[in-house]
Amino acid sequence: MENKINYSRQMQKIIEQIGTQGGRTPRLLLHSCCAPCSSHCMEYLREHFLLTVFYYNPNITVTEEYRKRLGEEKRLIAAYNRQVEEQDFAGMHSSAKANPIEILEAPYDPDKWFAAVEGLEDCPEGGQRCTVCFETRLRRAAQAAAEGGFDFFTTTLTISPLKDAQRLNAIGLRMGEEYGVTWLPSDFKKKDGYKRSIELSDQFGLYRQNYCGCIFSQEKKN
Ligand code: SF4
Repeated sequence: MENKINYSRQMQKIIEQIGTQGGRTPRLLLHSCCAPCSSHCMEYLREHFLLTVFYYNPNITVTEEYRKRLGEEKRLIAAYNRQVEEQDFAGMHSSAKANPIEILEAPYDPDKWFAAVEGLEDCPEGGQRCTVCFETRLRRAAQAAAEGGFDFFTTTLTISPLKDAQRLNAIGLRMGEEYGVTWLPSDFKKKDGYKRSIELSDQFGLYRQNYCGCIFSQEKKN
């Protein structure tokens, strides 16, 4: 059986190293698919990094759905930033020194995404179409991270129990090498991360979609 890499532990080690080094807080570009998935990731990472959420999701076929998810992402970031302003972390997991969060929205280009997955329309969820989808989004994230001079980049996608963290991390590492920016390994679902994202989604009343994003995943749910 294939040996799985513990990317959660790898991230932990990097964060511990950052903590012992002192100096400036590193900048992290966090690719985010939606507010519910990013809720725990942001709550955890904002204590260790200066976070910019990168919203690039051309896989979301329906424009209204794309806008709705983006709107929820912005609403959650605003709520987190209010907590920072008010220094009111009651009820939060860890409260030490959360940093404010910024958001960077990439142009919405679903045509480009459809071109990338052409011929893979009938693949089951989790198959080759998803691999191409991950790569499309993480390539753009790596490019943005390099252009913006970020210290690290990563994605919220590893919080989903339906998404293969081994595959996502392998792609992220490769994209990081290609664009000369450091991939922060992650498996956010671990250590009750997924459970925490459900709690936070309830707490903030976040819209939780019942399909991944593309028209093919939506058709499967209908
Ligand atoms: S199911 Fe999700 S990850 Fe897979 S191709 Fe569709 S949007 Fe992308």
